[in-house]
Amino acid sequence: MQTIRVAIDGPSGAGKSTLARAAAADLGFLYVDTGAIYRTVGLFVQENGLDAGDAAAVAAALPGLRPELCYDGEGRQRMLLNGRDVSEEIRLPEISRYASAVSALPPVRAYLLDTQRELARKHSVIMDGRDIGTVVLPDAEVKIFLTASAQVRAERRCRELEERGTPQPFPEVLRDIESRDYRDTHRAAAPLRQAEDAVLLDTSALSFQESRETLLRIIRERTGL
Ligand code: C5P
Repeated sequence: MQTIRVAIDGPSGAGKSTLARAAAADLGFLYVDTGAIYRTVGLFVQENGLDAGDAAAVAAALPGLRPELCYDGEGRQRMLLNGRDVSEEIRLPEISRYASAVSALPPVRAYLLDTQRELARKHSVIMDGRDIGTVVLPDAEVKIFLTASAQVRAERRCRELEERGTPQPFPEVLRDIESRDYRDTHRAAAPLRQAEDAVLLDTSALSFQESRETLLRIIRERTGL
């Protein structure tokens, strides 16, 4: 069966996961949130008391890490770490920082590459991350670079954290987003950048519904679905 691959990349808090999940539901595709996989590695590193900047130590521990994706009854992605459901824990701000640090390590990126590609071989997917269109699925049928201003992204993230019951002050959230943007775009290994053949979608001035419709229109135009 011919599968269709939609790669969505962009900075933290651009709404990638919410929009990608909605579009996947509309199209009957599997939604893969690759950030959750990096977050699971971040949690593993934190729980094992490893230095997230020490590539050799993290690489040596990777064989003890088994990250698995599964889906609940409503089609929501869950993350398992060695069989334990860590879907909520990996969303904590501390783990975001660990995820960002470990994702800069080449052995971590190499370790996760096959897992991500395998998912796209078996299913039509909408996969979101930082390097999906550039590294993981360079031949994806559709590539989208989804972004919004740092201010708008921080406002959205604050609302999300509040709804989760883990509120954070706005200046802190903005600072966190800006430093993650910096690290994601300046790292040597698979830095965040727009693929040459990606469509730019800036949602700063768009409502969720408008963004969802625009995203679907781009995918339908490019795939003929
Ligand atoms: O998307 P999310 O914010 O959950 O991703 C967590 C971290 O994982 C990001 O800060 C980013 O550094 C990293 N990441 C990555 N490559 C991906 C997905 C996420 O480096 N494909």
